[in-house]
Amino acid sequence: MSTPEDDPMKQPRYTEIATFMRAPLAHSLDGVDIGLIGVPTDLGVTNRPGARHGPREIRNSSSLMRTVNLALGVNPYSLCRIADLGDVRLSHRFDLEKQVEEIAAFYRKVHAAGVRPVSAGGDHSITYPIFKAIAAAQPIGMVHIDAHCDTWGEFYGSKFTHGAPFRLAVEDGLLDPKRTIQIGIRGGQNFMDGIEFSLSHGMRVVFMDEFAALGVERVIAEARKIVGDGPTYISFDVDGLDPVYAPGTGTPEIGGITTLEALRLLRGLRGLNLIGGDVVEVAPPYDQTGNTALVGASIMFEIICLIADRHFGGR
Ligand code: MN
Ligand code: MN
Repeated sequence: MSTPEDDPMKQPRYTEIATFMRAPLAHSLDGVDIGLIGVPTDLGVTNRPGARHGPREIRNSSSLMRTVNLALGVNPYSLCRIADLGDVRLSHRFDLEKQVEEIAAFYRKVHAAGVRPVSAGGDHSITYPIFKAIAAAQPIGMVHIDAHCDTWGEFYGSKFTHGAPFRLAVEDGLLDPKRTIQIGIRGGQNFMDGIEFSLSHGMRVVFMDEFAALGVERVIAEARKIVGDGPTYISFDVDGLDPVYAPGTGTPEIGGITTLEALRLLRGLRGLNLIGGDVVEVAPPYDQTGNTALVGASIMFEIICLIADRHFGGR
């Protein structure tokens, strides 16, 4: 799938049009194993907008990524065919409900072609329509890193906001709450509706204080036990990280996960039956150093490596 232009030892990484990871831009789903997809919308945010600019900046920062994951000993590009599938095209940019349907329609095609999606948001409302496509036949499990549970009900007249994707997914039978772990939850609340939904439906909620007390290794062990070997998705909201590491996001919460902890956590998921993942809520307008986009690109790369290793690595 790669061409001489994609080889970083032939053309330096700052050249050519910015695609995710400098992967080839594919106009067809044929022969693609892992598809990198941008979903540039922040119509679902309840507070500060800006995540619509996430995919473009993550593509740019991802030119800093290399091919070999030193910690895992994995070169995903040598294991499978990875392509940038471009952005989900949206024709109703001011209608959240229609947008949900359009995103779902895009991912249904991706899923039907056997392509495993790794996506860049966009705000977190994009994950519900992704689940509508990839979990239609069977509910999936999830490792969810976030400061927020995202299991809230209606906000300001809509139930499709970025505070709600996993409540909707559970209600639709797409997400198995008993195979779901939410890690890094913290911050003040105006009401407890979302947290109560998560707990009452059997999700494992690892609040940040508990994460700090348990340590990464024990959280990994618990995550692996909870999701088991069934199909599992990784949803990574950058606000799960401390804003020291990821300030460029709409709803930052102090006292979060470090980037090193996040990398260790993800690498600890090696071997799980991962069917896709996303990195959401990178909001470049607040990302004064560009570090949040770099974090987003780096987390995407880790997820790509995990999927490639499990499904194409001969394990
Ligand atoms: Mn979120
Ligand atoms: Mn969040």
